[in-house]
Amino acid sequence: MSDAGLTRADAEALDAADPLADFRDRFVVTDPDLRYLDGNSLGRLPVATPDAVAAVVREQWGDGLVRSWHTWIDWGVSLGDRLAEHVLGARPGEVVVADSTSVNLYKLAAAALDAAPGRGVVVMDAEEFPTDRYVVQGLCRSRGLTLRTLPSDLDDGLSPGALRAALDDDVALVVLSAVSYRSGALQDLAAVTAAAAAVGARVLWDVSHAAGVVPLDLAGSGAELAVGCTYKYLNAGPGAPAFLYVRADLQERLRQPIQGWFGQRDQFAMGPDYDPLPGVERFTVGTPPVVALAALGPALDLVEAAGVARLREKAVRQGELVVALADAWLAPLGFRPASPRDPARRGAHVSLAHPDAWRICRAAIAAGVVADYREPSRLRLGPSPLYTRYTDVWDALDRLRALVSAGEHELLPRDPSRVT
Ligand SMILES: *Cc1c(COP(=O)(O)O)cnc(C)c1O
Repeated sequence: MSDAGLTRADAEALDAADPLADFRDRFVVTDPDLRYLDGNSLGRLPVATPDAVAAVVREQWGDGLVRSWHTWIDWGVSLGDRLAEHVLGARPGEVVVADSTSVNLYKLAAAALDAAPGRGVVVMDAEEFPTDRYVVQGLCRSRGLTLRTLPSDLDDGLSPGALRAALDDDVALVVLSAVSYRSGALQDLAAVTAAAAAVGARVLWDVSHAAGVVPLDLAGSGAELAVGCTYKYLNAGPGAPAFLYVRADLQERLRQPIQGWFGQRDQFAMGPDYDPLPGVERFTVGTPPVVALAALGPALDLVEAAGVARLREKAVRQGELVVALADAWLAPLGFRPASPRDPARRGAHVSLAHPDAWRICRAAIAAGVVADYREPSRLRLGPSPLYTRYTDVWDALDRLRALVSAGEHELLPRDPSRVT
């Protein structure tokens, strides 16, 4: 049988030569037999996190009580500065950690629309992540704006030509993912930002599937606005607070719609009227979830120590391994690649289409391979380079090949469950 010229011994050799191999030991791995390829949905738990969170709970909350607000009050900004420097390519004071990605998207989209009163159109990829579509649909409906939804290739992403063709001087805002959640298609941030700027439109980037695994240069690419998650490749835990980025020169020109007291100048003066802070904190709202924030610092320690450039290098090699093994082993079993072939145009996950992908995904979990299913008919494989070995990738594809050739998935019911 063809092994794509890559034996398990080859994967072992790649692990032995991997400069990031030791980072795996800094994550909790309770089941050594599990092949976890879903780091793009929920990153693993860093070993340091439980104690860090427990210290915040026991000491800062339990003992410090309300006095601990002196430390907590700046966390959103200090964590934002770390993300700016090490993950996003932004400047200090341009990023803050707060709320969820959905809420941050709403705040920044609304702020951008308020700042473009003469323009009536928002542009979005029809295949954009659902929450982004729903938030933008709601904003367009409540403001009487036209949503220009662009058809795009499910596997190849929104084409630069289609996007340029949709831009005119009635466009206020483009909302776009840097890396598509389904296919992994990677956009050229500088080119899109420049094309939008040429007609006077802004771009709000969602970098959820890029942060921590694709080097971002928000400042260098001219990006004005961005939001993203911390629980995917950044490993801050389920529901961890998200981040938002607003370029420094825009901050005072934009007002966000949720006028909470954490965005207020001189918050504890408790003044009568809303008067937003000058900096990025004006885009925060209320009391931050301190216990959840406590998990972000130890997670960022690891990403910073590894460095996103090195993580990208390994992610590309692991993506190429997925593609090579899928071509050799899975294509003959009815799988079709559903991501850009060129690794330079792909984030860190690879999708494979198969008519029975839903049941294959369930059967894979039973065989100790955690990937995920996305409509329509796609199995997503997201090896997070910080803790995934080349042998994990090899074993996962090997188990997939074995279970599909044995027809194990055909024994399962067809109905999708609530969480996919
Ligand atoms: C994961 C993800 C989200 C998640 O938003 P939440 O508010 O955290 O649920 C949003 N947008 C994109 C593009 C994502 O990949």
